[in-house]
Amino acid sequence: MNIEVKNLSKVYGSGESKVIALDKVNLGIASGDCLSIMGPSGSGKSTLLHLLSGLDQPTTGSVTYDGKDIYHTNDRELSAFRRQKIGFIFQQFNLLPVLTAKENIIMPLLLDKKQPDQAYFKQITELLEIDGRLSHLPSELSGGQQQRVAIARALIAKPDIIFADEPTGNLDSKSGGEVMGLLHDIWHKLGKTLILITHDSRIAHMADRQFVIADGVLSEVTAK
Ligand code: ADP
Ligand code: MG
Repeated sequence: MNIEVKNLSKVYGSGESKVIALDKVNLGIASGDCLSIMGPSGSGKSTLLHLLSGLDQPTTGSVTYDGKDIYHTNDRELSAFRRQKIGFIFQQFNLLPVLTAKENIIMPLLLDKKQPDQAYFKQITELLEIDGRLSHLPSELSGGQQQRVAIARALIAKPDIIFADEPTGNLDSKSGGEVMGLLHDIWHKLGKTLILITHDSRIAHMADRQFVIADGVLSEVTAK
């Protein structure tokens, strides 16, 4: 899917406490692009990711997917769109502690009353090297393994677009590097669009298109 962002702004509060979290962002993303976004804490990274993925409401501006404005649809259509087209990876993994790795991965499908595609399940769990850990609880897995389970969960509904908000922020440098390497491989092998927020410039440089954000203003810095 092609994503078009026009004049996207988000303002919190008013008067003295007004914060312009996102300031007139314009951006086009083609199907299959890999983007990284770097910026200091509080610069608007998460706000941007949430607005791109339909998790928040913009103050002004639009986000269209293949020409369709996601903020001019009803709630049911928007949540179906999010479940089917978008995978989200968080810094905190957000796995359910009482479910096994396998149950966590297929959870999004159960919510949609769908059965997992067994061949695809096998493919992604092997790619992520967690196929030997599927009956473990999150507490029995390392941080890197937990994040790889969370990546499989983000992929299970075969979304077109993966958003990752500082996916290695809770990992040590070695397992963070491994997780990123796998995420990049998956992007390459499965042909998804990947939009990645990171504090780590080594990771940012893996992306074809690199952006920085400061005080809500987004700029592309990719060397041409
Ligand atoms: P980042 O992810 O880059 O650390 P955020 O997008 O979370 O930054 O936040 C951008 C700015 O918006 C910050 O100044 C933050 O304090 C402010 N902000 C974020 N969410 C809210 C909210 N719900 N209410 C008020 N201000 C917010
Ligand atoms: Mg953030």
